Amino acid sequence: MVVILSQLLCSCEGNEKNSQAAERVVTQDIAMGTVVSLTIYPKDEQEAQEAKALEQRILEELWHLERDCLSRKADSSEVYKINQHAGDLGEMPVSEELGKILEECRQMTEDSDGAFDVSIGALVTLWKIDEVAAGDIQGSVPSREAVEKARSCVGMDGVILENGCIRLKEGMMLDFGSVGKGIALDHVEKMLRDGGDTAVPAGVFALGGSIYVYGNKPDGTPWRIAVKDPFSSGGNVGVLEVPAGFKVSTSGDYERFFEADGRRYSHILDPATGYPADSGLCSVTILSESGFLSDALSTACYVLGKEKGSALAEKYHAEYLFVDENGEIFMSNGMKSRYFSENGVGN
Ligand code: AMP
Ligand code: MG
Repeated sequence: MVVILSQLLCSCEGNEKNSQAAERVVTQDIAMGTVVSLTIYPKDEQEAQEAKALEQRILEELWHLERDCLSRKADSSEVYKINQHAGDLGEMPVSEELGKILEECRQMTEDSDGAFDVSIGALVTLWKIDEVAAGDIQGSVPSREAVEKARSCVGMDGVILENGCIRLKEGMMLDFGSVGKGIALDHVEKMLRDGGDTAVPAGVFALGGSIYVYGNKPDGTPWRIAVKDPFSSGGNVGVLEVPAGFKVSTSGDYERFFEADGRRYSHILDPATGYPADSGLCSVTILSESGFLSDALSTACYVLGKEKGSALAEKYHAEYLFVDENGEIFMSNGMKSRYFSENGVGN
């Protein structure tokens, strides 16, 4: 039996033949702007009680991360306040955690030749990506002048971090939509590691298209994550066997998009043009031990395309699976050994 954990982007497949798996504890809710599904496999009734409480704490941690740190929309968040002060000459203090995330993002911007850029908020706002995704409005293509104006407000050289303070260039906005879910999975990992007496043996934690598998499943079968077929709703292009402790993130043009003039405009933008990325890839799946890297690289490789994207993933020792616009699949060697198509292993 296949357990669909997140039908939005990926699904996670498990074998539920024994009664242990049937007792798994599941919490589903909305956080980080997506559907969250937290599943723990307890060994006994006492662990099941602990698992329920732990899932609640994880959910609260996700809400806290969103509300107090990363959200571009919530007026209580650090990112919101920093964006509000863009252009101010006075410096704003930045928390140690956000400062560290920004430095990691800056490195990824450098390594991806600017394809990945969390200072992309002005363009995300212009293209109304969140409003289109929420179904509040129909998407439309902005004027070339408006795109150029927003594009001039993107670029990590306009993000100055000094002595625990941050300054943004006028008109600039930070947007962590590309990495928030991966960062959140790293938080979940830390909570499980620090769990002490509430430690649980195994679980799957899915935040939209970013998934973390933890521990060994009670029935002894490997964790399996199905990669969605970008060309068929409900179908998948294959299944990945994921080692415990790893995170998998998928970025795809079928997640959030609108259609105009007979073409699809996706939610992943190319900072070099200001328009949706057009690299020939429709879906990018990255496997890494780091949630941050799996999420950041999935977005970066989607923008970069096959050649440059694979080189970037290799630089970070991450495994990749790309589906291009013709439906062809390209994988790193490490991914091939974990990949099962309908027809067999490693196709
Ligand atoms: P993901 O689905 O993880 O690939 O992230 C996509 C989200 O990241 C979008 O909805 C935007 O909020 C933001 N974004 C779009 N293009 C980029 C880009 N080139 N670099 C960084 N973030 C981006
Ligand atoms: Mg991403």
